[in-house]
Amino acid sequence: MKKPFITLEGLKKIPHPTPYHLYDEAGIRRNARAVNAAFAWNSGFKEYFAVKATPNPVLLKILREEGCGADCSSLTELMMARACGFSGEEIMFSSNATPRDEYEYAAKIGALINLDDFSHIEFLREICGIPETICCRFNPGGDFAIKNRIMDTPAEAKYGFTKAQLRDGFIKLRELGAKKFGLHAFLASNTLTNDYYPELARVLFETALWLRGETGAEVSFVNLSGGIGIPYKPDEEPNDIAEIGRRVAAVYNETFSGSDTRPAVYSELGRFMTGPYGCLVATVLHKKEIYKNYVGLDASAVNLMRPAMYGAYHHITVAGKEDAPEDFICDVTGSLCENNDKFAIDRRLPKIDIGDKLIIHDSGAHGFSMGYNYNGKLKSAEILLKEDGSTELIRRAETPADYFATLDVTGIKFE
Ligand SMILES: *Cc1c(COP(=O)(O)O)cnc(C)c1O
Repeated sequence: MKKPFITLEGLKKIPHPTPYHLYDEAGIRRNARAVNAAFAWNSGFKEYFAVKATPNPVLLKILREEGCGADCSSLTELMMARACGFSGEEIMFSSNATPRDEYEYAAKIGALINLDDFSHIEFLREICGIPETICCRFNPGGDFAIKNRIMDTPAEAKYGFTKAQLRDGFIKLRELGAKKFGLHAFLASNTLTNDYYPELARVLFETALWLRGETGAEVSFVNLSGGIGIPYKPDEEPNDIAEIGRRVAAVYNETFSGSDTRPAVYSELGRFMTGPYGCLVATVLHKKEIYKNYVGLDASAVNLMRPAMYGAYHHITVAGKEDAPEDFICDVTGSLCENNDKFAIDRRLPKIDIGDKLIIHDSGAHGFSMGYNYNGKLKSAEILLKEDGSTELIRRAETPADYFATLDVTGIKFE
């Protein structure tokens, strides 16, 4: 059974209208400490939180207090990281199809730049020169399999350098002045297995040694990137981060024994850092009975896109009815003029009344941030449940004025 981190009593104390995303500070801090403890064997370890997962400055500052850096993929994410106090090598810039001005800004603030392609070496050199420390993203091609199970197909992914391009790239980067190298790869997303990081680590550690042999360049950090998943479904087993850390350590010791290569290990987790510690709270506005039962909420796919986009499962708790029998089968919908605007299909829930508060679990990463404004819907507020039990509004809800703001160029007034 999945238990939300907030009860109906707790929700009643929150003085803001639904829908909103609620985040659990205690959970975020506890988990960040567990990640850091799992990799404490590596003295250079740093988790660079993937800002795109939950780009809220209050949450970023909490993660910074826990020792995390920020992994950014765009100009505004870099600006946000900087505004939150991250500086220099506390910021990783892992982008692709990168615009000029984004490299310029990243170089200006001294972020670690992770190049996505061989051709970006020349592109970057021309814009701002090659920094002393530079990282390259690896795409090994083919299928990425763990124990004969295909996790993903890098050959079909747009990211990264081929192995030969890494060798040529490192040689070229050295000629252009680079002194310290990083190696990065992201080969499978939302993995629910303790095997992913150790297997990926083996690929990257071995590639680092190969590159040293081929180019003389020393890899000073290996970035295992994101991809550690979370159990969205009640019957799924969570990953064990302590076990993952131990197993990466074992691969590290095995691969680098007899070598003086001792790279720092970095991660760029997003989902694992905040996913379970956020939920979307919505109110039931309508119930409808036609060929099926429908429950209509004040939230929609613009607030949480994953079910509509990927058919993703998000668990739903009816606040205050945690122990009621689940004998009502319904689709839980938003109000978009899109039939895929459903948070759940044929879901078994307790009997629902209009006005009930629904807690949609695991919206803490890739939730609010994937939002959009289709149907003229507005983005919701974000609220932090603090460690002392009080709450703080950490982003207000959009208003119609926000929605119309970029139409100021037309001179038309919207009232
Ligand atoms: C999205 C992303 C991450 C975070 O991925 P999660 O699945 O949230 O862990 C990390 N690094 C890069 C480059 C990404 O694009």
